[in-house]
Amino acid sequence: MSKVRTRYAPSPTGKMHVGNLRSALYEFLIAKHAGGDFMLRIEDTDQERFVEGATEIIYRTLDKAGLRHDEGPDKDGGFGPYVQSERMKTGIYMEYAKELVEKGEAYYCFCDKERLDSLKTEIVEGKEIMMYDKRCLSLTKEEVEQNLAAGKPFVIRQNIPREGTTTFHDELYGDITVENAQLDDMVLIKSDGYPTYNFANVVDDHTMHITHVVRGNEYLSSSPKYQRLYDAFGWESPVYIHLPLITDENHKKLSKRSGHASFEDLLEQGFVTEAVVNYIALLGWSPEENREIFSLEELIEKFDYRRISKSPAVFDMVKLKWMNGEYFKAMEFGKFYGMAEPYLKEAVHKGYDLEKIAAMVKTRIEILPDIAEHVDFFEAVPDYEVSMYAHKKMKTTPESSLEVLRELLPILEAQEDYSNDALYACLCRYVEEKGCKNGYVMWPVRTAVSGKQMTPGGATELMEVLGKEETVARVRAAIVKLEKGL
Ligand code: GLU
Repeated sequence: MSKVRTRYAPSPTGKMHVGNLRSALYEFLIAKHAGGDFMLRIEDTDQERFVEGATEIIYRTLDKAGLRHDEGPDKDGGFGPYVQSERMKTGIYMEYAKELVEKGEAYYCFCDKERLDSLKTEIVEGKEIMMYDKRCLSLTKEEVEQNLAAGKPFVIRQNIPREGTTTFHDELYGDITVENAQLDDMVLIKSDGYPTYNFANVVDDHTMHITHVVRGNEYLSSSPKYQRLYDAFGWESPVYIHLPLITDENHKKLSKRSGHASFEDLLEQGFVTEAVVNYIALLGWSPEENREIFSLEELIEKFDYRRISKSPAVFDMVKLKWMNGEYFKAMEFGKFYGMAEPYLKEAVHKGYDLEKIAAMVKTRIEILPDIAEHVDFFEAVPDYEVSMYAHKKMKTTPESSLEVLRELLPILEAQEDYSNDALYACLCRYVEEKGCKNGYVMWPVRTAVSGKQMTPGGATELMEVLGKEETVARVRAAIVKLEKGL
């Protein structure tokens, strides 16, 4: 068996969306699982769709996601050039196109736009396509020579017989057979001399010894034409894996409009790189075991492309957020703090110990922007109703809370050590003297210092961060509020 070689072959036409990254990830995993090579090839033959800066996004995204390529424009592996526009300059595509012309598998076409526009279009698989009527196929060799000598613009088209069928194999879909009458004589070389993607991908995958091709299933309908090219050259086609569509929660195709961002947008929104990669791996693939959290190394070990599903994968934001939260929980604190600090600084301006606050929120947030709502009260106690002091389980009422806070105020004023442990011991002593349950005291204190029903830490943890002066001021203010509110 030859060495497994896969390629990610993006067209530099914009951002890298979730679907693009999934193709790249699966190509990477197939190669690395088998100890093979993963290659990056830039498919820039469609000059009209080229977007400035898109190639840089591709490099950045692969790098951030940890998908290191073994070969590519920046890493020669002996199969270069790795950029199609540069490959074109070597004359490779034209040479192979001419070989097909010689074999009768392709032909020169000189029809101008006007004539092509006048040809009938047909609906194939819901798409309107123009079926070229093969007029130029009947040109004699001399006529072709004359036209070329006269500098007439031309394209080279694939010559597909009108009768018969073509069959190709896909790992997920099995054998697919189509009527040749449905296949148009697609352009291989355009009038600007560039190959079409349709032609270049076949020539490149073969000459670069690619063994497995992973791409979106929008390419399924073109694959019979590619198969005919492989057959015409007498080449063996790679293993094809056409991935199911990724849809949103409403089963609509993912789009920016429906709020589905590119990989970089997701990172900007506060998602963890490894969580996004982990989540994307599961969009259409599932491991044998019932488990969802995988590092990239674990994915390499477990990935078996035969377990990719044919049914559409649903991009579920709720699930991605959950997974992201799991990554925060498991993350080393220093790394988490590095990510959380800008969000904490944005939300808390007073000189509190942000590391302590970060430690409290680490296990409670799903994405970084969640931090703000968890920590806003450190800045200032929000306006709240005194009814918040009533808690059934803790058996507290606004009245009982007022009594507790009044009794505690002098104790808190006298307390010197405002560390969590010392404060906890101090409150417990009071609880014991009063002969009540813990919550009967902790609930009013926590409410008084935070004004919130849910906080990222217990009463004394919050008080440690707030410090003596602020804690006492907040308890005083709570007493006044309760006195007024009752
Ligand atoms: N350049 C194509 C694209 O970006 C790649 C398709 C393929 O992987 O063959 O969609």
